[in-house]
Amino acid sequence: MTRRVAALALCLCSIGRLAPAQPAQDLDPRVVTLVGQVSEQRLVALLKKLETFGTRNTLSSVDSPTSGIGAARQWIFDELKSYSPKLQVSFDTYRIAAQGRITRDVEARNVMAILPGRSPRRIYISGHYDTIAIAGGQSGSNAGNRGRDGIVVTQPADPNAPNDSPAAGVNDDGSGTALTIELARAFSQSGLDFDATLVFMCHVAEEQGLMGAKLHAQKARDLGLRIDAVLNNDIVGNARGGNGIVDGASIRVYSEGPEDSPSRELARFVQRWGMRYVPSHTVRPLSRADRFSRGGDHSAYNQYGFAAVGFRESREDFGRQHDPRDTFDGLWPAYLAQNARVNAAAAATLALAPPAPGVLNARGQANINRAPSGYDAHLMWTASPGASAYRVFWREAWGPDWQHDMLVGNVTEATLPHTLIDDLVFGVAAVDAAGHESLVSPYISPARDADDVKTAR
Ligand SMILES: [Zn+2]
Repeated sequence: MTRRVAALALCLCSIGRLAPAQPAQDLDPRVVTLVGQVSEQRLVALLKKLETFGTRNTLSSVDSPTSGIGAARQWIFDELKSYSPKLQVSFDTYRIAAQGRITRDVEARNVMAILPGRSPRRIYISGHYDTIAIAGGQSGSNAGNRGRDGIVVTQPADPNAPNDSPAAGVNDDGSGTALTIELARAFSQSGLDFDATLVFMCHVAEEQGLMGAKLHAQKARDLGLRIDAVLNNDIVGNARGGNGIVDGASIRVYSEGPEDSPSRELARFVQRWGMRYVPSHTVRPLSRADRFSRGGDHSAYNQYGFAAVGFRESREDFGRQHDPRDTFDGLWPAYLAQNARVNAAAAATLALAPPAPGVLNARGQANINRAPSGYDAHLMWTASPGASAYRVFWREAWGPDWQHDMLVGNVTEATLPHTLIDDLVFGVAAVDAAGHESLVSPYISPARDADDVKTAR
């Protein structure tokens, strides 16, 4: 069998002067159409409907047909079910025992819609549909005057009674829920044939410690499900900060480290492809898991070994969060629609693309060396099913963003002559015939275990 190798004749001695990796590239018109399907009007209707339940607290009533979490989850289920026979809608149900902020045993249901792809590997778009209101809201928590965690939950004296105190949660996280539902509609009605399986997930019990997401992520790990990416949206619908500063043109994307972790690669992907399809919106990746003293469901997936990022609005109004004032009048639907379009562009590109190539050798180490001269960069990878080419990325080993990239053919190795692998970070992505690009697999050295020196007596 002939080895197929790309020998790159580029002189990389001038690497620092090359243009950044943003070449003009043809966009897939089908993805353009899908992104264009995101409807601000539909988002408004979804947000207003979510507001009508009064509260969606995980511990609220389940027997009313119009208010509380029971009515809310059934409506989300029915809404998702109405979009397309291709969507497999289900409750992902657990019984959570009393613990922490869960004051009594409770049945908790994530609402999920699966759009099967050709492959079982999964890409999630998610939010949490449960809500909470606490005394003093998030502002009180930020001011540090509400005790540990700042959480003083307004709840009935009887812990077994439903907590139906008002908590409309239209932004937290009605915004992420509406985004997820709207993208379930757009994707399932797109007619596109995705390689990956898309999962539109509305989590529950986020406000009690990411419990719905943790239970699902734990189950996914135990079942050996392959989840390539989780795009989690939590508080993404308002563009005016509580301090009056407005930014309706950017979205923050948080990801856990280290710098070439799977979640960090996902954040880079969201920026690269989100901004190509939605150039009017700036994606701002942030090199940390989340904001200070705040959490989100993406971290639950991280804990169980999955790549996941958290989308957060550019400017927050803490005075409305975890507070009965989190109502529709605080939402900026046009801004939410832009954030939904970024999610759509990234998820569609990723779901249409082949899986990322493998870059580890049999010993679990990065498959890169200095051959043939001893001073070259020689990259090897495993072929991805469906790929017709690969794109090699690199950057100086001091910086967060890929600086350069180069498309190579349908090969499984490439050599960059006179290129010091010790000074650069390399990665490779799989590309299909239509240009859909996978996540980048980075060449990084695994951490070494401590190796104690034996001392003589
Ligand atoms: Zn939230």
